[in-house]
Amino acid sequence: MSYDLCIIGGGIVGLATALKFSDAHPNASMVVLEKEGWPGLHQTGHNSGVIHSGIYYAPGSLKARLCRQGAIETEAFCKSKNIANVKCGKMIVATSHADLGRMEVLLTRARQNGVEAEQIDAAELRRREPNITGLGAIFVPGTGIVDYKQVCNAIAHELKKRGVHIVYHAEVSGIEEKGGIVTITTSEDRQWLASCLVVCAGLQSDRLARLAGLKTDFQIIPFRGEYYRLPAARNSIIQSLIYPVPDPSMPFLGIHLTRMIDGGVTAGPNAVLGLSREGYPKFSFSWLDTSEFMTYGGFWKLISTHMKSGWRELRNSLSRQRYLAECRKYCPGLELNDLQPQEAGIRAQAVMQDGSLMHDFLFLESNRMLHVCNAPSPAATSALPIGAMIAEKIAGKLERRSYPAGTIAAG
Ligand SMILES: Cc1cc2nc3c(=O)[nH]c(=O)nc-3n(C[C@H](O)[C@H](O)[C@H](O)COP(=O)(O)OP(=O)(O)OC[C@H]3O[C@@H](n4cnc5c(N)ncnc54)[C@H](O)[C@@H]3O)c2cc1C
Repeated sequence: MSYDLCIIGGGIVGLATALKFSDAHPNASMVVLEKEGWPGLHQTGHNSGVIHSGIYYAPGSLKARLCRQGAIETEAFCKSKNIANVKCGKMIVATSHADLGRMEVLLTRARQNGVEAEQIDAAELRRREPNITGLGAIFVPGTGIVDYKQVCNAIAHELKKRGVHIVYHAEVSGIEEKGGIVTITTSEDRQWLASCLVVCAGLQSDRLARLAGLKTDFQIIPFRGEYYRLPAARNSIIQSLIYPVPDPSMPFLGIHLTRMIDGGVTAGPNAVLGLSREGYPKFSFSWLDTSEFMTYGGFWKLISTHMKSGWRELRNSLSRQRYLAECRKYCPGLELNDLQPQEAGIRAQAVMQDGSLMHDFLFLESNRMLHVCNAPSPAATSALPIGAMIAEKIAGKLERRSYPAGTIAAG
């Protein structure tokens, strides 16, 4: 069967793209191919569940704009589908004098990005969050929480109602673009024809781009985000989400205390090099995944630049005591027994050949294809407007006969 659009990947970005394309083109035929048996089982189902408000990102950047818009659309979608979400706010806590300086920069960013943020002193922080200590904090009232797996399930349900074909257990092993048609091969040699293809394959995005014959100048390197869950007796230890002031040179936000939509509280995630792209248990190892980055020049350049922070993350990962010490910087009452096992998440981090970490979205395009090669946090928050943006680009491809192939557009 031939479709107008095929989407590979049933994570939140792939599903949001399908939803937005179907909104704009209700009569178009569409198939979503997902290798797992359920939507959202990789990054989308292993994240912190935060609906970010967009305070961190460079003013005017695509990331800042999509995050703000995404938060509004996510909340509206949840309301329309009765999905639980809570606007509990976020406290970004300064624990050192260096943090106080960085806090000023964040406050300026908040103003430039149009994000409501309030600066509070140590006494006020203590009053609002009796278990948290710091030299001061920024309170961001607009930050919320949700279970993104539930969002994915609701989108998948809606798509099925609209006649979109969602095929699970369909691992893509071949992509060929020829004569205005893309042929996609999945497990058991099934073939799917489409006028256009969007690939939202997260941790496998570089492999699928290469499989499609596109030239890549990056590689996905897995970064584990390890969490602990606090015991139920600690569920009211925080009122809002508690974040450290982030290191501006890293795309990760630091270990935070997060209220989950099920009422629990998690600590995490850290950011430690993973030896397996989809191996969630600790010490998971894949020979293919590890050898691929070990033979990539960009990886060694990355290591040489971030040796100190990489080593610190590794030590925090190997020692629960050290992990606890990170949390105690702002929540001194936590004890070792409070850190109970919780499944990790794994970030698909695009690393460029010069060893730099790609902080923004990265798309790779050809006449008939669009590959989402890097969709870092807050892409779960931003998924709906990202989907709308991709849907618009695809509509352009379907209308135009020739398109300059091989352009890389980073937002
Ligand atoms: C630890 C962690 C915490 C985070 N916290 C937040 C947060 O609080 N808020 C936020 O907004 N963002 C957060 N993020 C970021 C966010 O979760 C991701 O940016 C987002 O989920 C990316 O969605 P995706 O659809 O691109 O990727 P994924 O969810 O990884 O989906 C990709 C899909 O492609 C499928 N696939 C791959 N290869 C194939 C193939 N060959 N054939 C068929 N299917 C294939 C996979 O099975 C998968 O379902 C976090 C991420 C992590 C890892």
